Amino acid sequence: MTIDKPRPVVRQDLQSLEGYHSPQVEVEVRLNTNEAPGPPPAAFAQRVAAAATTVAWHRYPDRSATKLRSALAELHGVDIAQVFCANGSNEVLQTLLLTFAGFGRSVATFEPTYALHQHLARISGADCVASPRDEDFLIDVEAAQTMLAVDEPAVTFVCSPNNPTGIVEPRQTILTILESVAAFGGLLVVDEAYGQFAPWSALELVDEEVPLVVTRTYSKTWAMAGARLGYLVGPKWLVAELEKVVLPYHLDAMKQAAGLAALDFVADMEVRVSSIVDERIRVQAALSDLGATVWPSGANFVLFRPPGGNGDQVWAGLVERSVLVRNTASWEHLDGCLRVTIGTPSDNDRFLQALAEILDSPDPHPKTGSSSESTENERGSQ
Ligand code: PMP
Repeated sequence: MTIDKPRPVVRQDLQSLEGYHSPQVEVEVRLNTNEAPGPPPAAFAQRVAAAATTVAWHRYPDRSATKLRSALAELHGVDIAQVFCANGSNEVLQTLLLTFAGFGRSVATFEPTYALHQHLARISGADCVASPRDEDFLIDVEAAQTMLAVDEPAVTFVCSPNNPTGIVEPRQTILTILESVAAFGGLLVVDEAYGQFAPWSALELVDEEVPLVVTRTYSKTWAMAGARLGYLVGPKWLVAELEKVVLPYHLDAMKQAAGLAALDFVADMEVRVSSIVDERIRVQAALSDLGATVWPSGANFVLFRPPGGNGDQVWAGLVERSVLVRNTASWEHLDGCLRVTIGTPSDNDRFLQALAEILDSPDPHPKTGSSSESTENERGSQ
């Protein structure tokens, strides 16, 4: 059937929206999306398999995800009513924005940062305002205070450790921003997707009368990106508001079981995190030895600028050697930079060896203009 009528028109404010991209290229060593280098323990997978035989498949899942939320509450020493879970921390962020942002409101970010904060804010209908970071990629606190006082954004995002720079904000910066935001009734969201890799957490600042939430994910430290599970810790009243907005039964029964099972393997997770941190220190040192500019990182990835600053050419040379890192070379504020996820020791060796080879060759990699290069360069940041 063909209908000879104009197609339905997309919301006007979304017509210029670009899709959120996370390009993939087939390679042997994938260090571009900040995933964990290996899966959770086999005993975890067995626990999940057992859950598949006992779950009530014909029933809707526990809408309140009571067991999962109470285990997370116990993990963080908070009340179950302070925990909100969703399908990845991205859905946590989306629910926050649907609840607190939207038309006629604005959302603040500190650039460069995780691109999805602004993307989701726009989809909610909100306007975006941004304030810069200094040359070390730390939030410029004075500029932040001015922006907050002028724009009074409904929601302010601080990503710490920040993706894609890896920088952890000092406690004092979070406190100052929190004070500024509280002064006009705004909400501060500290995105701690990489929180367990960092030396301190804003979780300690969460309180019933403080307009702060901290978001976490199972995708990185828990090595469960495939499960799509994330959560936040915040004031009880705020969690109750989110529960009104999110879809009923949004967390399926198997996901709840998997999230719960993972929490029985905290010690394994901590071992994984500390070996990734050790590897991060090794990779940072090796990058410096190769002459790269390397920024400090409190996450499972490192931002660096290859010597000569030609990130695009180096990125293409790495792909040629079957190593994929994130090409941030043409992103605003990140001129010539690349971001590498910390992988297994052998993945990291492959990356470092490929990089050394590229930097050793007289013409590291002539500009190819290949389609994979331009695709990889599109803005987005898993
Ligand atoms: N926040 C940041 C800063 C991230 O880097 C990511 C994933 N790359 C997310 C949130 C989303 O994580 P999830 O897989 O839990 O949706």
